[in-house]
Amino acid sequence: MSGRVCVVGLGPGDARHLTPAAADALGEARHLVGYGPYLARVAARKDQVVHPSDNREELHRARHALALAAQGETVALVSSGDAGVFAMAATLFEALEDAGGADVEIEVIPGVTAMTAAAARIGAPLGHDFCALSLSDNLKPWETVLARLRAAAEADFVIALYNPASRARPWQLGEALELLRGVRAGDTPVVFATAVSRPEEEIVVVKLAEARAEMADMRTLVIVGSSATRSLPRAGGGAWVYTPRKAAVPA
Ligand code: SAH
Repeated sequence: MSGRVCVVGLGPGDARHLTPAAADALGEARHLVGYGPYLARVAARKDQVVHPSDNREELHRARHALALAAQGETVALVSSGDAGVFAMAATLFEALEDAGGADVEIEVIPGVTAMTAAAARIGAPLGHDFCALSLSDNLKPWETVLARLRAAAEADFVIALYNPASRARPWQLGEALELLRGVRAGDTPVVFATAVSRPEEEIVVVKLAEARAEMADMRTLVIVGSSATRSLPRAGGGAWVYTPRKAAVPA
């Protein structure tokens, strides 16, 4: 009997951003596999087996999920946000390809990704063409990150930066901001959205000229505006940030 792996995105934090389909998949699984802190967000039942792992063990985790399913088990492989965005869904397919295929059923359940959750909190910064980049150079060379960032900045995309900083990667964001300041106007709005939809949520909007790497940590999603992105005062204080749906006319 072949088993099943469901790759499940939990959303950014708040349980209300977990979709009903994701909740069903979690409920149907006998095994829950994932990074420990993410699994801690799932209320596992007594009859479910929880397999927490370290953050760096992604491929091992995916192989483990496939191996359990090959034995006929039902597995939920858990990611934060959307499981397909810089997360476990791609790792599962990498493990599947490495293994030359596997006789298991696979389903990927979409989730609310950090980028859209952050955008919703501050207004509508992703209202026109945008791209998402991971600033992490763990899985690609830093030169590749910079080349893609430059291309995105020159093409005038709104840019969502995942993985902007961590204790092991303290300097990358500073260099990225320097590059952006060389291409984009100093008054471009930049959003630092930290721990969106969690109790410690903090959202800060600054001009690109004033953006500093210290404003981000590993829980932060950074959104850099395009030349059309605007900031408006919000009733009650603070700002809205939005990007009009009509493209800016090139100067
Ligand atoms: N699969 C996840 C992304 C994993 S990469 C998703 O779709 O959201 C990890 C990065 O996601 C973090 O470094 C941060 O940039 C971003 N992130 C995840 N959760 C977040 C949250 N609640 N608030 C802000 N950024 C978040």
